[in-house]
Amino acid sequence: MLDKFKDECGVVAIYSHPEASTLAYLGLHALQHRGQESAGIVSSDGNRLHVHKAMGLVADIFTEDVLSRLPGTCAIGHTRYSTAGDSALLNAQPIMVDCNKGMIALAHNGNLVNAHLIRSKLEHAGSIFQTTSDTEVIVHLIAQSKEQTLVDAVADALRRIEGAFSLVMITRDRVFAARDPRGFRPLSMGRLPAVAGQRQETIVFASETVAFDLIGASYIRDVKPGEMVVVGPEGVSSRYYAPAVEQSSCIFEHVYFSRPDSVVFGRPVQVSREELGRQLAREAPAVADIVVPVPDSGVAAAMGYAAESGIPFQLGLIRNHYVGRTFIEPEQRVRDFGVRLKLNPVRSILQGQRVVLIDDSIVRGTTSRKIVRMMRDAGAREVHMRISCPPTISPCFYGVDTPSKKQLIAANKSVEEIRDYIGADSLSYLSLDGLKRACGEGENGLSYCSACYTGKYPTKLFDVEEIAPAPAESKF
Ligand code: SF4
Repeated sequence: MLDKFKDECGVVAIYSHPEASTLAYLGLHALQHRGQESAGIVSSDGNRLHVHKAMGLVADIFTEDVLSRLPGTCAIGHTRYSTAGDSALLNAQPIMVDCNKGMIALAHNGNLVNAHLIRSKLEHAGSIFQTTSDTEVIVHLIAQSKEQTLVDAVADALRRIEGAFSLVMITRDRVFAARDPRGFRPLSMGRLPAVAGQRQETIVFASETVAFDLIGASYIRDVKPGEMVVVGPEGVSSRYYAPAVEQSSCIFEHVYFSRPDSVVFGRPVQVSREELGRQLAREAPAVADIVVPVPDSGVAAAMGYAAESGIPFQLGLIRNHYVGRTFIEPEQRVRDFGVRLKLNPVRSILQGQRVVLIDDSIVRGTTSRKIVRMMRDAGAREVHMRISCPPTISPCFYGVDTPSKKQLIAANKSVEEIRDYIGADSLSYLSLDGLKRACGEGENGLSYCSACYTGKYPTKLFDVEEIAPAPAESKF
């Protein structure tokens, strides 16, 4: 409905807690913003794995009755937005198999760029796939590995895949957590003190630290790029399964995807977002009366812009959070109906004002055009659009749903042409340098992927090379 990049997926894992599946459910609830199509939990009672997956939202899927059928002290969970494979229950995760290495279930955030290649090789050799998801190749690689132990087989499988993966895995008595060597997607590790009757403290993993806050866990550290952590009866062990390469964590996690109350890649997202706004105010000042965010994702950047510029912050657009997936349109055409379902302007704030409107991105431009028109209809005298990242000129192949280059307005129009299309009085984007600085590039070795702004991808694009646009310089 709103013209945004779509979030990817969220994963969570719990080791050693009497209510493991309930904690996994709560963790998934905190990660719901990362995927709203389907969700699943697999638990282990020490002897076998139990699974429940369904389409829909976490709170609707996991009733008390469902959770009572997920017994045991270990669990993993997944909430999905499909970025590879169809949106269907068969592709919901965790993916569970009973193979020569025992029962295993795996949940994955990210996209593999060589999954099609591996899959066609495996199918050629007789493997039968149950899903159309890229994640299933990991399970097949583990099952087919010639390594003797499960830990070695997982490491072997992870060395064969390329692209973005933050994943959690469960067996009868262990939980695994691993990140790809470039660390595209986040994955954090936390702990809860042992409860009565448990010999070990509870170890938890989650895509974002907001999941820890909800279950009362404390953050220990991030799973490092190229690291595999195994938690079992013998405690926590860690190994690096691949040689180190340059980190390329997704900068869009800080711009948009992650919740502002999360710490992602070791850095509070709220701090990055406010700094994006401050930097934007320094690079692209405007003569205006009020700063208004496009909620919710533009709020922190607008706070930063207002603080830096001295122009008052106002909530001139209100978001309706209760919009379902389907809605009945009136037969009589209502202007900007789709956007109005989610956003409505506050006339008493906007009337006669010169407005700096802050958003985190312009994808196709259609939503921005409607919002600008809504602001003017509500009485805004001038609308100066400011975007807290550079123009998005290339699609993502690492687990974010982006339109093709043809549909990305900034890949096809100059900033002035976009300004004209959306009907703003002025339009400016944050520079790439400003973006990286605001998100702390260089601090503690942090370095980012910014391929959707530059067209320069940090990996080979095995599966997509023929269809991918040729890497291009931004024309701005
Ligand atoms: Fe993130 Fe963009 Fe890189 Fe994708 S291409 S991983 S959205 S920075």
